Amino acid sequence: MGTSNKYGINTICTHVGEIKDEQFKGAISPLYMSTSYNFDNVDVKRYPRYFNTPNQEALCKKIAALEKMEAGLIFGSGMAAISTTLLAFLKKGDHVILQETLYGGTYNFVVEEFDKFGIEYTFTKSLAIEDFNSEIRNNTKVIFIETPSNPLMKIVDMKAVADLAKNYDIITMIDNTFASPINQTPVDFGIQVVIHSATKYMGGHSDILAGVVAASEEHVQRIWSLAKNLGGSLSDFTVWMLERSLKTMNLRVKRQSKNALKMAKYLENHNLIEKVYYPGLKSHDNYELAKKQMKYFGGMLSFELKEHIDSMDFQRNLNLIKPSMSLAGVESTMLSPSQTSHALLGPEARDEQGIKDGLVRFSVGIEETKDLIEDIEQSLKKVIQ
Ligand SMILES: *Cc1c(COP(=O)(O)O)cnc(C)c1O
Repeated sequence: MGTSNKYGINTICTHVGEIKDEQFKGAISPLYMSTSYNFDNVDVKRYPRYFNTPNQEALCKKIAALEKMEAGLIFGSGMAAISTTLLAFLKKGDHVILQETLYGGTYNFVVEEFDKFGIEYTFTKSLAIEDFNSEIRNNTKVIFIETPSNPLMKIVDMKAVADLAKNYDIITMIDNTFASPINQTPVDFGIQVVIHSATKYMGGHSDILAGVVAASEEHVQRIWSLAKNLGGSLSDFTVWMLERSLKTMNLRVKRQSKNALKMAKYLENHNLIEKVYYPGLKSHDNYELAKKQMKYFGGMLSFELKEHIDSMDFQRNLNLIKPSMSLAGVESTMLSPSQTSHALLGPEARDEQGIKDGLVRFSVGIEETKDLIEDIEQSLKKVIQ
């Protein structure tokens, strides 16, 4: 299904798509910041908003190789990638099925903008395949999924969704941000278009805002033809920063995933923790499915504190782990979904989705787990006094 690369994952991360420095023979890709290129007698008319500067083109090769796809495209943010890609495959009168739990920005984009374009949409009732099947209409053109999903780390069966969609000639898209290409490559299960907020694991150091798409040459061409009109391309400086970040992605994400599994087990056995949501735990509802489609189980988990503990007090008393909005950096961070991503829902809707006030989302970094455990212990000690 996917295109195979002769190189192993760390070699892809380090080398694929690098630009040879012919002029000075430096070891890394030179950075071309030019927004103006010769138009006369050239193969490609280059301009940053055409997504075809030297650094953009080169990095797309690494993105494509990481997702075992033919081609890639780099955007100014994850939402630029998501919005452009959805609109590239949907027109007036079309219908899209989106899974029940989605990144808040994607949800907002759909419910705030699609009516304007005359695009119909439905969110599934659950993540079970029957609930995708029952939403299919004659005009359904796209199914959009996200697994693991935020914040309860629910898992969607990628192969079941891809097989279902194929029967009806529906395009399948995935937001693969939480897993990263290190933990799952959706093309292996038949998913056609893979999107990332590169702000997260691809960037990995909490200093880059970017998005990427990987797909077949034909699909990327279709996305590109809208992308150049919408104009959401990424500054070449940030493209170059992203290339640097991707060199260590496998090392980082593997370590984060191993740390997350250790932290999940520690939290699950803790008498002040009510419940832990991590697909790598046998107690997780979708453990078997996660094992089938993920390599490691990712660096994200969430947990509920016992009811008598104030989750905000707990986060304020941490010394090492930072209370922080975003995720996936090399540093560990935590947040309360009820105060951030799911604040607008209100208590009742949150309750329906199983998101309690005591739920804490934990983005596990690369630190020593003994230090993370010590930090959690000292904070818990303070808040139960
Ligand atoms: C952060 C995030 C996005 C949006 O990406 P931006 O880079 O912030 O635009 C989309 N999907 C998921 C799962 C995310 O975590």
